[in-house]
Amino acid sequence: DTFDDFKIKKQLKKAIVDLGLEKPTPIQQASYSTILGGSDFVGIAQTGTGKTIAYLLPILQDLKFSDQLHPRVVILAPTRELVIQIVEEIEKLTPFLSVRALGVFGGSNNINRQKRAVAEGQDIIVGTPQRLYDLVLANVLRLKSVKKLVIDEVDIMLDFGYKTQLKNIFEYLPKKRQNILFSATMTTYIDELMDDFLINPVKKTI
Ligand code: AMP
Repeated sequence: DTFDDFKIKKQLKKAIVDLGLEKPTPIQQASYSTILGGSDFVGIAQTGTGKTIAYLLPILQDLKFSDQLHPRVVILAPTRELVIQIVEEIEKLTPFLSVRALGVFGGSNNINRQKRAVAEGQDIIVGTPQRLYDLVLANVLRLKSVKKLVIDEVDIMLDFGYKTQLKNIFEYLPKKRQNILFSATMTTYIDELMDDFLINPVKKTI
């Protein structure tokens, strides 16, 4: 199996080739067409399996050029390190596409700078739950245009006690959206999310 089996635009294909990715990993095989098709998705896959590109590729494939201010994709991750890594993967995949992506997280990173960057207009916001929620509460980040929500490392989110922040963020998201969850392990919290927020999710375990 190769990336040629994927329905993929030439700008993304060229980035994949330039990155030296020869063939899709099993989680990428298992998720591409389902996520691209718009179904809710739960992927149980460890770090190192290529899970990030597994959700980024179909999302980028489906993302049309726009100059609108409010993001159409939100990706939540438990740590600043993971946020930075995800933004880097987006940048690596989009040298030939016009995609605006911003990482937001707490700590030393200046919130005023993040507010300005959000206000400039972004297609994809990648963030830790608390900082992302703070930006929503500050009326800087508006989530009403979000079509796709990714929650990466759901099990770690739970370990870090992010359950309340996630629920708070859900309140601001449009009900009609695609939900994509990734986790290294299946937890009862994922079952809860599947029952409460997901619609007929397709679940794949690698
Ligand atoms: P992840 O599981 O998302 O943390 O990815 C682990 C590493 O695998 C990252 O450095 C990716 O760039 C790399 N990777 C992702 N997909 C592929 C692929 N199809 N072929 C080779 N390496 C890949």
